[in-house]
Amino acid sequence: MKFTGIIKSVDQLGRFKIPRECLESHNIDTNTPLKIFRRGKTIIIQKEMHNCIFCSSIENILTFKDKYICKNCIKKIKDKLVSI
Ligand SMILES: [Zn+2]
Repeated sequence: MKFTGIIKSVDQLGRFKIPRECLESHNIDTNTPLKIFRRGKTIIIQKEMHNCIFCSSIENILTFKDKYICKNCIKKIKDKLVSI
């Protein structure tokens, strides 16, 4: 994780403004959905991506009936079905 050198304060309404240069460098436009995660005492803001419904991976994602599943989980499901 790299510090940007920018420090911002939360306003009286609990809002936090992300600097325009940070938004532009990550191709985040108005109304872009953002996900908020917690990892210990760290807050992570991530641009909405399609995560696997089983393992949350964002790599090798396929869609099936409007759900996102990674190829690794598809293989695990396939192997489980073959063993039945
Ligand atoms: Zn998965």
